Amino acid sequence: MIIDSHCHLHDPAFADLRETLRRSLTHDVWGAVAVGCDAETNIQTLAAAAAAPKAVWACLGFHPDRTRLTDDDLERVEEQIAAHHSRIVGIGEIGLPWYSLERVPDPTAIMARGRDRLGRLLDLAARWDLPVALHAPHGAAADALEALKRHRIERAVFHWHKAPAEVTHAIVDAGFFVSVTADIVSRERDREMVMGVPLEALLVESDGPWKYGGEFEGTDSGPWLASRVAEEVAKLKGLPVEDAMFQLSTNTCRLFDLIWV
Ligand SMILES: [Zn+2]
Repeated sequence: MIIDSHCHLHDPAFADLRETLRRSLTHDVWGAVAVGCDAETNIQTLAAAAAAPKAVWACLGFHPDRTRLTDDDLERVEEQIAAHHSRIVGIGEIGLPWYSLERVPDPTAIMARGRDRLGRLLDLAARWDLPVALHAPHGAAADALEALKRHRIERAVFHWHKAPAEVTHAIVDAGFFVSVTADIVSRERDREMVMGVPLEALLVESDGPWKYGGEFEGTDSGPWLASRVAEEVAKLKGLPVEDAMFQLSTNTCRLFDLIWV
C-alpha cells in the first residue's frame, strides 16, 4: 500500500471523491495528500479532507506560477492557514515561479515578488510548525532551498523535483525530501534523479490530474498512479515492491506527520 503525496483533489476530474478513492484502493493506494493552489481550491481541498478524513489529508497553498493571483489573494490564503492550521498537514503547493517567467514581460520583478510571497508563507509554516510542499523546478530549486534555510523550515518536499544533481544533493543533505511522478517510467532525467538519492529521501506522487505520456497516454491521472511510480522506484533501487512501498509511505507519514494505520 502507498500514499499519493501530492494530488489536486480540488480539480473537477475528482468531483466524485468516493469513486476516486475507490479506484485508488484497487491500485493499492490508500490515500492522498491533497494540495491547494489558491483560496477557492483550498476550500475544496478542506472539504475533501473533511469528507474522507482517513484517506485525504489537506495542505493549503498558493501556487507560485499562477501569476494572476494578487496580494489580496495571498492575504486570503494566509487567513485560511491561520484559521485551519490545526486541521491541515502542511502548506502547499507553494514555492517560486518558473514556467510562468517565460510568459511575463518582467520576469525579474515577478521572481522578486515570488520570493517575497514565499517568505511570507514560510513564516507561517515556521510559526505553526507545518511542513511545506514546494513547487520549485529547475533553476528555482536552489533559491527555494536557501529560502527554507533562511526561514528555519525543518520539513519540506520539493514536489515533482527537477534540478541539477548538485542542487538535489544539497536538498537531501539538508534533510528535505524530493518527489517523483509517473514521469519516472519514461524520462531518463527522473530515473537518474531517483538513482542518485537515498530511498529515505524520496516521495512518490501523481500530481493528478496532470496527464502523462508513454504508457499513460490517453489514461486518466489520479492518486492511483502512485503505486505504479513506487513500483518503478523499487525496480531502480533493486528492492521488492513491498519494501519500497513501505519506505515511501513511511517517508510521506514522517514528512506530513500522518498516523500510520
Ligand atoms: Zn501540483
